[in-house]
Amino acid sequence: MRERWEELKEKALRELEEARDLQEMEEWRVTYLGRRGALTKILRSVGKLPPEERPQAGERANRVKRELTQAWEAKVEALKGRAIPPEERIDVTLPGRKPLLGTIHPVTRTLWEIYDIFAPLGFQVVEGPEVEWDRYNFELLNIPKDHPARDMFATLYVAPPYARSQEMMLRTHTSPVQIRTMERFCPEPIRVLIPGRCYRYESVDATHEWMFIQVEGLAVGQGITMADLKGVLTAFARQMFGEERKVRFRCDYFPFVEPGAEMAIDCIVCQGEGCRVCGYTGWLEILGAGMVHPEVLQNGGYDPGSYTGFAFGMGVERIAMLKHGIDDIRLFYSNDLRFLKQFS
Ligand SMILES: [Zn+2]
Repeated sequence: MRERWEELKEKALRELEEARDLQEMEEWRVTYLGRRGALTKILRSVGKLPPEERPQAGERANRVKRELTQAWEAKVEALKGRAIPPEERIDVTLPGRKPLLGTIHPVTRTLWEIYDIFAPLGFQVVEGPEVEWDRYNFELLNIPKDHPARDMFATLYVAPPYARSQEMMLRTHTSPVQIRTMERFCPEPIRVLIPGRCYRYESVDATHEWMFIQVEGLAVGQGITMADLKGVLTAFARQMFGEERKVRFRCDYFPFVEPGAEMAIDCIVCQGEGCRVCGYTGWLEILGAGMVHPEVLQNGGYDPGSYTGFAFGMGVERIAMLKHGIDDIRLFYSNDLRFLKQFS
């Protein structure tokens, strides 16, 4: 009796091994485990045994049945796994999907590069409010109420409709922080960089945004001259745009400096030959600068008789545009990931 069980079990497992698909598995199941299957037949024959042999034989029969059932179930599972249609299968050899990583905005990145250039020269970063009083944005910077220079700044005023005066505004430049810094540090010498958002009521096009980031520099102390201004800004231009850069200073007018200058570098695209980017002049203007106006020094608390200083300001977007060959300022603020991803 026992041999019959073992024989049957081995034969069944051998055949199960050979089954290649679910169809053959079903045939195997009917043959061995089905109602008329081999196992059922033997189980029935247990009843014909002498009573003392029945418990042992029954137990053995059930064990074999359990083993065969488990083997069958395991193989069916395995075959089912293989039967998944190709489009639903997981290809574990494929490379994983990269999670989307954020990157530093190109304007912020450029600003950090500017900090890195000025920090070794002793410039620290200070900030000021974006909503500013007329006094700081204009008056203390030598731009009184009736001054025609106010026309240079298309100002966004912040005022309730019943207010008669236009005393509060979105700052049009970072220069009000010059006054705030002087008030704070006077009579100490100053070397600061002033970054931040500025606002102008301007129509937006490829080179103008109603909001832009400016970074301004201010140095105040005894014995500071125009030579210091030129030295510092030349060092900046060469570190930012290449050691071979030529620089050019020309007279310009800003009410809060005297004399005022505009600084240009030889075109980084055509190396000064003349091209579309530089408007066929060979030069690219990168910033405005000048010696702090004596009136402004005095407004900040410094005696213009013994203190002098220089200041400069630039649009960070413009520097980033020149450095990376970007031709439209609006790209910075359009939230287009295709653009931003290029700076990762
Ligand atoms: Zn050019």
